[in-house]
Amino acid sequence: MVFSLGFNIFIAIKLQKIMMKDTLKKMDTNLQDVVQYKLDIHGENILMNELIGKQIKIEWSGQVICSCGKKMKKFYRSGFCYDCFYESPLASQSIFKPELCTAHLGIEERDLEWEKTFQLAPHYVYLANSSGIKVGITRGTQGVIRWMDQGASQAILLAEVPNRRFSGDIEVELKKYVDDVTNWRKMLSGKPKPVDLVKMKENLSTYVPEELKQYILPDNTVTEINYPVREYPKKINSTKLERTPIIEGELKGIKGQYLLLDGDRVFNIRAHEGFISTFSFSDIAKQGKLF
Ligand SMILES: [Zn+2]
Repeated sequence: MVFSLGFNIFIAIKLQKIMMKDTLKKMDTNLQDVVQYKLDIHGENILMNELIGKQIKIEWSGQVICSCGKKMKKFYRSGFCYDCFYESPLASQSIFKPELCTAHLGIEERDLEWEKTFQLAPHYVYLANSSGIKVGITRGTQGVIRWMDQGASQAILLAEVPNRRFSGDIEVELKKYVDDVTNWRKMLSGKPKPVDLVKMKENLSTYVPEELKQYILPDNTVTEINYPVREYPKKINSTKLERTPIIEGELKGIKGQYLLLDGDRVFNIRAHEGFISTFSFSDIAKQGKLF
């Protein structure tokens, strides 16, 4: 059972690349003076920054596709079908609560081989300022990408640990003093006040559990991140494809994985991963020119 599940997931991930072609996926990000966003859909890479000021349109087909390849009208929970939600290691408890990871002890949750590959790799604990200070964790290579996905304006690495569990243990201690989630409404309402992250890191480091203090990083480089936003929404109006299958309007900016549209609307691309959709854009027609 365990082996066949692992095998299926391996196949599923390979198939996913082909089947997910026509679905929405989170945008690729690239850290430059201003974050550069790319949307990969229908085999085309669309440079989203160039569409700011233009009319965009997202049209949902009414179907979603799970990472296992199953097509449905809607996901069961958290972007998974029923079976994957209860069986896939991608949806296990420790994905949501890293402090429950046990692969470093050789203890299986759903698929030990998969869990070993995922968990027994360098992880970082970081502090970021997106809507105020938060603590978070990320896999080795994902650092800056994760910060851009969360819409952080500043970030600093706090510790580098050899596995996911240790990062979870540090996070559990630090979230007694700072948030561990981004307040997305606040993040989308403007740039946060700058914070002295080096000072914050010094203060919070004292709360890292004694046996994990050896992993605190001496490097205090602060990464500053700017987003392509022409205009922030005044009152945030969250749009979803389940309610509005066709979303169109002028793109006013991009922050985190959110598209900011006219009428104070915001659209979270990441929350719509797996939605079989089309994406198009056009210049905004000049009004009053016809007659
Ligand atoms: Zn599935």
